[in-house]
Amino acid sequence: MVSMPLKLIVFTDLDGTFLDHHSYGYEAAMPALQRLQDDQIPIIAVTSKTLAELDHLNLPFGGVARITENGMAIEMPAQGDQKIAQHHYPSGKTYRDICQFVQSLPSDLRRALNGFNDMTLQEVMQHTGLPEENAARAKQRMASEPFLWSSDKAALQQLRDLAAAQDLQILQGGRFYHLTGLGGKDHAIGWFLRHQKIAPDVKTVALGDGPNDALMLACVDYGIKIPNASGASFDIPSPQGRIMTAPAEGPQGWSDSLNKLLDEMKLSV
Ligand SMILES: [Mg+2]
Repeated sequence: MVSMPLKLIVFTDLDGTFLDHHSYGYEAAMPALQRLQDDQIPIIAVTSKTLAELDHLNLPFGGVARITENGMAIEMPAQGDQKIAQHHYPSGKTYRDICQFVQSLPSDLRRALNGFNDMTLQEVMQHTGLPEENAARAKQRMASEPFLWSSDKAALQQLRDLAAAQDLQILQGGRFYHLTGLGGKDHAIGWFLRHQKIAPDVKTVALGDGPNDALMLACVDYGIKIPNASGASFDIPSPQGRIMTAPAEGPQGWSDSLNKLLDEMKLSV
């Protein structure tokens, strides 16, 4: 019996999803990962990390595309005559654009904003708690600026309004705010599917464990919610496909839920 190749693409968050929240290991993901690779199903990382941080992780996949900085930058491998990987900015805003916007702010707002570009490596280490090499990788940004804010809410609203007028947005993270172009992980996936001319009959799967994954899980055929180690729950607004919850946290849940989905899809081929 000849088995039909599955027409499927997997998009995955990393921290707390493919990677264990504590150890950063992914051994538990191997069973489903092996199956996906045997079936030549592309797996695409969609992460808040920078490309430099991603490089350092040495993931066992990544030859198709890599989506970094919460969907603000996409790296596509060299194709045809290209010698080097190509970088794309689905929002149209590069780090340079964002830093120029920061420089153009009225002086009171400018003083209140302390971004990675303003900080020395030592300061990034202090504020993030990252060791030196990791802080250096986090500082190599392509399309988003984490920053600390030292003024009040009214001034932050002024900043938001000025940003919006330039097609930029302020997102609230944990400790840091992030100044980025318009878009997100879902937007980057849409860009990838259009840019690569992915046929409409190819099914899409996304896996994620955090609120910043909600729109990504909503925009695919199968959105797989990985239970969050911190127990924080989040809603998925008007999903376009089916939403499933993995039976376990991290890479174990990643593998179990993808195995189950692959079993189901094989039966229906
Ligand atoms: Mg995560």
